[in-house]
Amino acid sequence: MKKRTRTPLIIAVCLIAVVVVALGALAAVCLTEDSADTNRGKNTAAVSGDTNPEGDENKVDGDNTKAVSTDTVEFYIDPDIDPSYYRVINRTYPIDPGYVAGSGELKSIEGKQMESKAADALAKMVAALRDEGMDIIIQSGYRTDEDQEYLYNRQINRQNGNKEKAATISAVPLTSEHQAGLAVDLSTDGTLLETFADTKQGQWLKEHCAEYGFILRYLPEKTLITGIINEPWHFRYVGSPAQAEAITESGLCMEEYFNKYLADEDLDPYLPYLK
Ligand SMILES: [Zn+2]
Repeated sequence: MKKRTRTPLIIAVCLIAVVVVALGALAAVCLTEDSADTNRGKNTAAVSGDTNPEGDENKVDGDNTKAVSTDTVEFYIDPDIDPSYYRVINRTYPIDPGYVAGSGELKSIEGKQMESKAADALAKMVAALRDEGMDIIIQSGYRTDEDQEYLYNRQINRQNGNKEKAATISAVPLTSEHQAGLAVDLSTDGTLLETFADTKQGQWLKEHCAEYGFILRYLPEKTLITGIINEPWHFRYVGSPAQAEAITESGLCMEEYFNKYLADEDLDPYLPYLK
């Protein structure tokens, strides 16, 4: 008699054990994903807090960057432009040697070069700025692969051989937007300094660059995502005013907007040198 009643009991206990183990495994998976998201969110929030006291642009502030960015940002892609204009270029997504985006053609502007559509847009932006009574210098436009190699190596020397620190200031060759002909550095006096953000030119450009198809690419609160220091002088052409305005209004950097983050292993060595 004893045996008969015990068998179903043993089966029941085994079933309960299986269910408990399965639930435990599911909970573990959920927890891992949550903490991964939370960590990324916290990193971003910490940077925003440190470097942007006003916090106006911190639409992604909070504990979960991914959730906020997908819930509140209206994702827009201009259907009329070549996707290469809004291609994300960084250490995880480098370009091929000799690559020029968009038309593939370069055009000269004030002694520098850019991809031809970007050059036309820059000419309009610079003319509008000057119409406001301000002057501006086009400091750097398109760079050949050799140019970027030279700048990167020079930066390594300036940083006493510290390649990781150098790479946060001068992009690793084949990871610079300048090599694609889509980036321009603007200056008031021939220098490229953070104080450019406080000049009337820097402020005008920040406010109006999207009207010409450009975005301010390397924001101070996004350095841990872009892998590049705050660069208020660096403007990236993204193909059209509509596209530039959509990205700017989102408050996200291109990596976030297009969900093309630097791989953690690509970014990790540089973290100590990014604010
Ligand atoms: Zn630049």
